[in-house]
Amino acid sequence: MTGPRVALITGAASGIGRATAQRLAQDGPVAVCDIDDVNGEAVAAGIREQGGQALYVHLDVTDEKAWVSAVADILSEYGRLDVLVNNAGIGDWDRIEDTSLDTYMATIGVAQVGTFLGLKHCAEPLKASGQGAVVNMSSIFGVSGGFGGVSPGYHSSKGAVRTLTKTAALGWAKEGVRVNSIHPGVIVTPLLDRIEDHQVLFDITPMGRLGRPEEVAEAIAFLAGPSASFITGAELNVDGGFLAQ
Ligand code: NAD
Repeated sequence: MTGPRVALITGAASGIGRATAQRLAQDGPVAVCDIDDVNGEAVAAGIREQGGQALYVHLDVTDEKAWVSAVADILSEYGRLDVLVNNAGIGDWDRIEDTSLDTYMATIGVAQVGTFLGLKHCAEPLKASGQGAVVNMSSIFGVSGGFGGVSPGYHSSKGAVRTLTKTAALGWAKEGVRVNSIHPGVIVTPLLDRIEDHQVLFDITPMGRLGRPEEVAEAIAFLAGPSASFITGAELNVDGGFLAQ
């Protein structure tokens, strides 16, 4: 079937998630999910002011009970769930040698465990949708070694998201749910605030500029929508050429 699609986006209070919620609101109701209630409510309110349908839901993606209640709230509000964007993620920045176990576990908790929980708890309504689609947020650093020797939790979790995507895609291929991963390069969002030298980010990007959240949101909307109806288990790079090197 085609028609308005209800989408759940995690980490939607900021950056790529916010741009994705704003873009997907053109295709149907969106559930703006985050732990940042102030900015999350503001994103949902902004979408409603533009004439879209949006609901803010407090969802810590590492909390399994929170997933159960968030999915129930969304089904109760909109009656269906067609699109899941597992976008929430945090960075770790230190050398492998200097990274604490707590930091490593926190980093993989959001991107890797959060993506697993999202798949698990949205599976049933996505299968019932008839046009179910998942877009999982990986990264260029889920495929390459990046700067080398740093950000161990980030690399581990983004690599895990890449292969988790493929097994979900295969498992659900005959059940009407497509699952793909997206691999942004360097995108201007608050995630980059910790990096002091931005020149190095320009230098690693063949196109010589950084990406905008809206450029990633457009690619997510494509993978989530009917134009990608025969695409599952794929990786889409939105990276200014980084992974072509
Ligand atoms: P961001 O910091 O602007 O947004 C991340 C959002 O996730 C925030 O609103 C934050 O509150 C939320 N969040 C953090 N922990 C959460 C949790 N436990 N549960 C729910 N929400 C949580 O960052 P961004 O750059 O927009 O990143 C979004 C995604 O894109 C991340 O997975 C990131 O790894 C990925 N990504 C970003 C870049 C980049 O260059 N910015 C590149 C590749 C991939």
